[in-house]
Amino acid sequence: MKTIQVKAGEVVIGGDAPIVVQTMCNTHTQDIAASVEQCEEMVRAGARMIRLTTQGLKEVEALASIKKELRSRGITVPLVADVHFSPEVAKAAAGVADKVRINPGNFSADPSAARSHFAEFIEICKEHGTAVRIGLNHGSLGERIIRLYGDTPLGMKEAAMEWLNMCRENDFYNVTVSLKASNTLVMVTAYRLLKEEMVRQGILFPLHLGVTEAGNGDMGRIKSAVGIGALLQQGIGNTIRVSLTENPVREIPAALTIARYYDSGRAEASLRDIRMQLPGIPRKHYVSEDWNQFIIEASCDFGPLLLDKTIDDFEISSLCGGHPAEPEKLKEFKENLMQAARRKFTRPEYIACPGCGRTLYDLEKTFNEVKKRTSHLQGLRIAVMGCIVNGPGEMADADYGYVGEGKGKVAIYRGKEPVLRKVPQEQAIDALLKIIEEDTVN
Ligand code: SF4
Repeated sequence: MKTIQVKAGEVVIGGDAPIVVQTMCNTHTQDIAASVEQCEEMVRAGARMIRLTTQGLKEVEALASIKKELRSRGITVPLVADVHFSPEVAKAAAGVADKVRINPGNFSADPSAARSHFAEFIEICKEHGTAVRIGLNHGSLGERIIRLYGDTPLGMKEAAMEWLNMCRENDFYNVTVSLKASNTLVMVTAYRLLKEEMVRQGILFPLHLGVTEAGNGDMGRIKSAVGIGALLQQGIGNTIRVSLTENPVREIPAALTIARYYDSGRAEASLRDIRMQLPGIPRKHYVSEDWNQFIIEASCDFGPLLLDKTIDDFEISSLCGGHPAEPEKLKEFKENLMQAARRKFTRPEYIACPGCGRTLYDLEKTFNEVKKRTSHLQGLRIAVMGCIVNGPGEMADADYGYVGEGKGKVAIYRGKEPVLRKVPQEQAIDALLKIIEEDTVN
């Protein structure tokens, strides 16, 4: 059973269309020149859809200017408005953007009014041919859903179905869905449940896949490949974003590597190529152009098998760019993959958002510093989030959090509680470490 097709601007998602690679600007949307420049760079790198944070009506206006400028330069990439917390902003964005992402968990402050706001929003989308993404995240489900189902994959699926059914009641089908989580097992389980339910109901909406707050470097790429790969391998997923706490342009080669691996049929062939050796440990030799291609493709192959507990271990060797990979690097890759597939935890678990127009500090630099200073804290879940608006919800089940709180200020969280507020940025990593140390001693 195929998904229906959704159209955002000139891009078709779902049905027989190839996997659409997308990303998101981390510029301030009101900085029109910087946003246009970053969009151009993303398109050159291969992005086929670009999202921009749209937190208010001023950002909607800015989005209109960015779109106008891009079109005047002959760049037709669809622009997606990322809207949270305001149905009014969603309605305004629906007349400007090619697609609007809303988060059902925070679409309206008044849950009883959500239905009528949503119906009005959908009418505007119909009028302008605007697509919609129902973008749910583990950690930011609505209170009622959490009361009924907990913050679980089942809750994510149920919430998605409620909103998809509202679309159907309003005779609106230009809609995709995402159920992202930082935990690969939660994410994969949620999408599988949703696919099953959609099959039962006889209509498949296209799915946007992504592992949120995946972090950066090798681990960010490995986690994303495990979660996205586990689903694409089963024919689930039509558009993907690899979220990295790096310059977002660097997300695109990683996402393209995954998309091409599945679209070309090479992923399927590679799985057939995995050899079993005594005592029942699967092994494979990879020949790759570079290290990133190797870790992404190997994670797509072995990650899902580990995640689903089909295998407990694996052996791997690799020729990257004509050179055999060093044993130390292979060992580190294997440990990272075991952790990304949630089978063996040898390091702290980092949860870091990619940053967006709401981020008011150097997220990548801070995240690298936090990693450096906490690398010995095996088993702890430490979050570094760009903003206090969405960060605390989306860091889900982190033990500790470093959360941007306006210009130059940081909130430190223990679990879901902010234990320090408005800490000057220069003192914030020390403050975080002090709290962790005190808790460990006590
Ligand atoms: S948590 Fe990060 S990516 Fe999400 S809205 Fe805040 S800054 Fe942007």
